[in-house]
Amino acid sequence: MRILIANDDGYLAPGLAALVAAVQGLAEVEIIAPEQNASGTSNALTLNRPLQVFEVPSSGSPGPRMRFVNGTPSDCVHVALTGLLGYRPDLVLSGINQGANMGDDTLYSGTVAAAMEGYLFGVPAIAFSQTHKGWTELDAAGRVVRSLVQQVLDQGLTGHPFLLNVNIPNRPDADSLPRRITRLGRRHASEPVICQTNPRGEPIYWIGPAGDAREAGEGTDFHATANGCVSITPLQVDLTDHARLPDWRSRLESPA
Ligand code: MN
Repeated sequence: MRILIANDDGYLAPGLAALVAAVQGLAEVEIIAPEQNASGTSNALTLNRPLQVFEVPSSGSPGPRMRFVNGTPSDCVHVALTGLLGYRPDLVLSGINQGANMGDDTLYSGTVAAAMEGYLFGVPAIAFSQTHKGWTELDAAGRVVRSLVQQVLDQGLTGHPFLLNVNIPNRPDADSLPRRITRLGRRHASEPVICQTNPRGEPIYWIGPAGDAREAGEGTDFHATANGCVSITPLQVDLTDHARLPDWRSRLESPA
């Protein structure tokens, strides 16, 4: 078993170290992560400049090989799978992200995107996030990761590839919380952009924080984590509005 690990918070992030430690001994592991924090970069690929890969010198202790890329989370997994690794990993893991990736977050998330890049290449993949920022209770989150990955490996990876989005409450007892299979909720629109003036007197804009949960009913990721559960959402990539295909056909399709 070979696992590729990436993230979007950068190769120095505590959540990445926690993820690596969590799967120790379960499989052969390689880490290819972004050089910088690349949160919110979604599935972006870097096409306007070449990418470089740098080896993180091992600190003497025998650990998995870690490299970083001066690019996005998707770049990392893309480069890894299309040439750098020289083999096809059995599983791609991403995270553990600092902060929730629930509902609409999944469209912006680099953590989800890194896993999705694996999934797009037919490799099963799991994205892990903690519901709150601050890197608290990472050990407990790591235990959740380990038991989940162990279970997935035990069940075998031979079926259809899958993409799971896991959100873990920052709690010391996270590993004894129930796990719920959920659907994505929805957020309110983001908070307004924050306008400031730079030292040259020009207006600058900071993207505001994500909105609060709007659709957080039973069965959603928001509901599960708010009620003390680990949320696991199986994701797909097809954005087609299947339900409205007939409506659009009648409205816009040319007559036969
Ligand atoms: Mn992040």
